[in-house]
Amino acid sequence: MSFQSQYLLSVYQAVCQRNAGEPEFLQAVQEVLESLEPVVNKRPDLVKAGIIERLVEPERMIQFRVSWVDDKGEVRVNRGWRVQYNSAIGPYKGGLRLHPSVNASILKFLGFEQTFKNSLTGLPIGGAKGGADFNSRDKSEGEVMRFCQSFATELTKHIGADTDVPAGDIGVGPREIGFMFGQYKRLSNEFTGTFTGKSLYSGGSWVRKEATGYGLCYFAQEMLSHIKQDSFEGKTVVVSGSGNVAIYASEKAAQLGAKVVAMSDSDGYIYDENGIDLEVVKQIKEVERGRIKSYAERVPGAVYTPGCGEIWSVKCDVALPCATQNEINGEQAQQLVNNGVSVVAEGANMPCTPEAVEIFRANHVLFSPGKASNAGGVAVSSLEMCQNSMRYSWSFEEVDAKLKWIMANIFHNAYQASEEFDHKGDLVIGANIAGFLKVAEAMKWQGVAY
Ligand code: GLU
Repeated sequence: MSFQSQYLLSVYQAVCQRNAGEPEFLQAVQEVLESLEPVVNKRPDLVKAGIIERLVEPERMIQFRVSWVDDKGEVRVNRGWRVQYNSAIGPYKGGLRLHPSVNASILKFLGFEQTFKNSLTGLPIGGAKGGADFNSRDKSEGEVMRFCQSFATELTKHIGADTDVPAGDIGVGPREIGFMFGQYKRLSNEFTGTFTGKSLYSGGSWVRKEATGYGLCYFAQEMLSHIKQDSFEGKTVVVSGSGNVAIYASEKAAQLGAKVVAMSDSDGYIYDENGIDLEVVKQIKEVERGRIKSYAERVPGAVYTPGCGEIWSVKCDVALPCATQNEINGEQAQQLVNNGVSVVAEGANMPCTPEAVEIFRANHVLFSPGKASNAGGVAVSSLEMCQNSMRYSWSFEEVDAKLKWIMANIFHNAYQASEEFDHKGDLVIGANIAGFLKVAEAMKWQGVAY
């Protein structure tokens, strides 16, 4: 552990004690606290207001039973959560994750990260996350619908357009949001923007589907151009994952002149030296809900390799990890560096382990943390809330232009904070500080409830 400040060390030790056995949450907290060393020295007022002690504790965490009936008529039980992490700058906002690995630690880490990410967008949204340990992969459409309805029945008691606005994350797309929004509407008798990521037929926003992936490339493009006077043009790119973030990151990277040669899912990865044919990936993933393996059966020359971690052995200029947390460890980071990677931009939340980040830093790889470079999804969600409140809808071009502007702005704010706090070019420190300061000022200004 590398804390110079005694104060930060003691805050972190208390967090460890209170959250024992929650490694993902502790990892996310440690990274942010380490970045705050220069703030602690320059802003004693924030230390005195106890901002950091308050920020490492979620405002509210709801855990609930989700019971539903499967196709055989048998009763099934899952565990659901909503972590309402911080509401200093706006209503709680963040996605829902449905995956068998979901637990309190993962949702607290995601809610914590979301708080800083949402702050970085410059839009008025607080931080939250939720989900359940539900695996939709082996379920029928009817089972997914009944699960989502049961989940939303409980969630409805805690959310609202000005209170908490859930959206998608891993395992939750427009289909699941549709089932949940439908149930919410039945119970509340209100058509309001209480969910985002809705379909275009029921109040969704243009570009929301593409937003995280496109935003990631807009961010990386701005970073490349500002720091290296370079661009995506002619670069070889590896994108992990093949969900919503990965697909649209690949699409935008290709539009910007790069060649995406590899993508993956949790079983393995595909390599296509001619550049991935995204229409085939979309057909497999968005239409058939199948596995990436079948790409190699359909596209001549493409090769499938089992084991998703192996994707990082593919030589590339730009790596875009868009699958899940801790998907690049130290060894894999070293492999990327040995193969000459020059940019790593996180599309998933915390996909690089602390060891991996350290290796990228030490080797002067341009690195952007997810809370900055994947903020495009939640940014467009916030624009969806805005359109829902106005009962209005912007065109694809209008939303896309706003997204591009927001991503460039996030880069410049993080870069500027890194300069101001004596770590020029370190976007991990810059993003953490810029995201923190806005929330901290709001918390200080709102006072403490006795
Ligand atoms: N789950 C996404 C994220 O990690 C999007 C959240 C949202 O749109 O509210 O930021």
